[in-house]
Amino acid sequence: MPKQTLRNVDVTGKRVLVRVDFNVPLYAGRVADDTRITAALPTIEHLRKRGARIVLVSHLGRPEQGSPEKYRLDPVAAHLAHVLRMPVRKMDELSGPAVEEAVDQLEPGEIMLLENSRFDPREKANDPKLAAEMARFTDIFVNDAFGVSHRAHATTVGITEHVPSVAGMLLERELHTLGSLLAAPRRPFVVVLGGAKVSDKIAVIERFLELADSLLVGGAMCFTFLLARGLSVGSSKVEGPEGIEVARRLLGIAAESRCELVLPTDVVVADEFKAEAASKVVSVEEIPEGWMGLDIGPRTAAHYAEKIAEAGEVFWNGPMGVFEMEPFAHGTGAIAQAMAEADGLTVVGGGDSVAALRTFGLEHRMDHVSTGGGAALEFVEGGVLPGVAALADL
Ligand code: ADP
Ligand code: MG
Repeated sequence: MPKQTLRNVDVTGKRVLVRVDFNVPLYAGRVADDTRITAALPTIEHLRKRGARIVLVSHLGRPEQGSPEKYRLDPVAAHLAHVLRMPVRKMDELSGPAVEEAVDQLEPGEIMLLENSRFDPREKANDPKLAAEMARFTDIFVNDAFGVSHRAHATTVGITEHVPSVAGMLLERELHTLGSLLAAPRRPFVVVLGGAKVSDKIAVIERFLELADSLLVGGAMCFTFLLARGLSVGSSKVEGPEGIEVARRLLGIAAESRCELVLPTDVVVADEFKAEAASKVVSVEEIPEGWMGLDIGPRTAAHYAEKIAEAGEVFWNGPMGVFEMEPFAHGTGAIAQAMAEADGLTVVGGGDSVAALRTFGLEHRMDHVSTGGGAALEFVEGGVLPGVAALADL
């Protein structure tokens, strides 16, 4: 259902709470990669130009697992101020009287950043009391955090029960791109899936077998499929009996569907899980006992690249190998390069996939790089995200 966006509301002079995704990597107390911060600028600029009083809220890392100090948002506020060339007031709280008072003092066009939302356990619990506290200093809520919209938290769903809630520019663009990708894909529609686990991605694989023309499989997940086909995979990372059962079932579904499910024909194997390990390229029928597959092989990469070149549209999630180690990054690199050169529409989603793309310096050559990995996959699976469903209908 179409949702209201920033364009549907008058924000002048209003206290606008914006849920952004500033979950950025920090290094030595500084923002190491500001992609997610710059992605929020269109919404922030829109609000500034119209004289809204802007209050930003985000989570950062997993402070609930200890050492919250290193997850304070001060470096993020400093970076944002630098990018915007204007002061950004940083609060040490998420809600309460101090925040209410500070928001009252905001002039139109001024910006404030609240403390890490996950410092408050009520955030993830979607506790209505937290949402009510936040509503005390909010006239309009804007969700611009696509990457967390698959989670029903206080700052994505709870708050929408109190104040008029609309989509921000970034969220709108994500929904538009992914929505049209699913509604009427340009064909052939090629999906490239890799990454760590099959079980994480079962639902999305099933959905893609209905939607796509080719599903090209790489990453650790291909070994569970190869095992399910009866090949031996040495010490490759595979999932337990259940994972193999799932892979077998998916192969069955694929056999009946018009979508081809393509597995690697060659892989790079290593005798240890480290960059310095001995490694070689072998056919998938000849994976030696005790060796593990850490990347797709060059023949497979070339075949996948051809499919990508012929595609009308390509969606990619999950690295083809352990791209964090240079000797096993070539398969992922070949896919990234093929996508960069492709004539078809290219879309990439997934935290590690996007990180890989960035290490190859190719992210600007994609048509759309989704800021959300899990959210993009859940959108593909079910089409509905709680944080989006909760926004006002158009
Ligand atoms: P994304 O974040 O893009 O959705 P995933 O989180 O599913 O991707 O998977 C990324 C991880 O998968 C990477 O850390 C990568 O090292 C790992 N991986 C890829 N191929 C293999 C493999 N053959 N063996 C072990 N790990 C792998
Ligand atoms: Mg990941």
